Amino acid sequence: DHTLSDNELTAWDRDHFFHPSTHMAQHARGEMPNRIVTGGEGVYIVDRAGKRSLDAFAGLYCVNVGYGRKKITDAIAEQAAALPYYHAYVGHGSEPSIRLAKMIIDRAPAGMSRVFFGLSGSDANETNIKLVWYVNNVLGRPEKKKVISRWRGYHGSGLMSGSLTGLAAFHTLFDLPKPPILHTEAPYFFRRPDRSQDEEQFSQYCADKLEGMILSEGPDTIAAFIGEPVLGTGGIVPPPKGYWDRIQAVLAKYDILLIADEVITGFGRLGSMFGSDHYGMKPDLITIAKGLTSAYAPLSGVIVSEKVWRILERGSDEFGAIGHGWTYSSHPLCAAAGVANLEVVDEMDLVANARDVGAYFRKGLADAVGGHRHVGEVRGEGLLAAVEFVRDRDDRAFFDASEKVGPRVVARLLETGVIGRAMPQGDILGFAPPLCLTREEADIVVEATQKAVRDVL
Ligand code: PLP
Repeated sequence: DHTLSDNELTAWDRDHFFHPSTHMAQHARGEMPNRIVTGGEGVYIVDRAGKRSLDAFAGLYCVNVGYGRKKITDAIAEQAAALPYYHAYVGHGSEPSIRLAKMIIDRAPAGMSRVFFGLSGSDANETNIKLVWYVNNVLGRPEKKKVISRWRGYHGSGLMSGSLTGLAAFHTLFDLPKPPILHTEAPYFFRRPDRSQDEEQFSQYCADKLEGMILSEGPDTIAAFIGEPVLGTGGIVPPPKGYWDRIQAVLAKYDILLIADEVITGFGRLGSMFGSDHYGMKPDLITIAKGLTSAYAPLSGVIVSEKVWRILERGSDEFGAIGHGWTYSSHPLCAAAGVANLEVVDEMDLVANARDVGAYFRKGLADAVGGHRHVGEVRGEGLLAAVEFVRDRDDRAFFDASEKVGPRVVARLLETGVIGRAMPQGDILGFAPPLCLTREEADIVVEATQKAVRDVL
């Protein structure tokens, strides 16, 4: 338990730590920057070398209240001292998990009824698929089981959730189940196949594609549609005007459940408490994680509508207790973090801040780099923003992947003290700062971006 030197730590890391979403060979050979982060305050993190950076991606879109919120760390410590763990099976519980369930339903869109807790966005989406299948079995329609997701959707890395994810990098060599998972058009207006379409026309095109898929598969085989209100990891892409209305009209026509994956958008990121409210979506199931605890402890959930809940109740009356749960479902430490976190969100009025500073930040980005000859689009909603790079603004041609434009801009940005993210598909620089970002901090990110883009492109 001696203090580790930098060299020891780096060697142990290379030799023993299997990192997620990492080029394993490059890491083992020491070819990657391995930054060891030791602390954080507000929107800043600090590493072992003492370098401070403005984290304009909030970790992985999750540290919504910012770092160092003592109210949350105290709540975790107090809960740990009182009761670190008790399970929630067969109706047991702990006070913070009950409190948190009530707080979530109070904030959720109208018509939502109960919360099932998990640990990650991925496991919550696994729960979603199981619930959808369960519901259709209770309803006596065992053929209605397929789930439609979208290309560029990100729904996690589990077997089913990874399969829902519509990004090639997350499928490579994994043999993820194809049917019963299908993928339809991404609502990616900037990359629409027919540039003569306006937003409403492109939304109709996406809805028609969906309907075509449903009809060719057979409506009686399609159980659910899953989508993020704003595509996140797939490129930070807000939907074109009218998209969700048109999609929901198709789903209603064929009695298909809507799962809103609000892992990123839940709890304020778009400047509304939920993305579903922001876009007038009326989901049957909602996935939550990240902003639920601001990642101070791992916690996710599935919010179930009253309509779905009634069917689940019928199921257990007919078939017995539901055989689904995790040891750590509603872990008291995580639930205590969630309660304190949602209080901080309210006390700091972070939903309104995401709306106001988000609009200011995105305008700043657009003014600073929107006119650059290699910037095709600056887009976003609330405190989610993206800059998409193109070789040519007219034909929107892609750069060669080997040019690594996104990663190079991000590396340059980091040198100036700001953390952004090169999104995994396409040359897209993404931002998802903590929701407590101030205008002054937004200015810092904008200036750094302008400089990085100028230097690299
Ligand atoms: N769903 C969405 C929309 C996400 O953005 C993510 C993670 O980024 C997930 C699900 C998966 O969550 P986790 O990484 O906690 O499993």
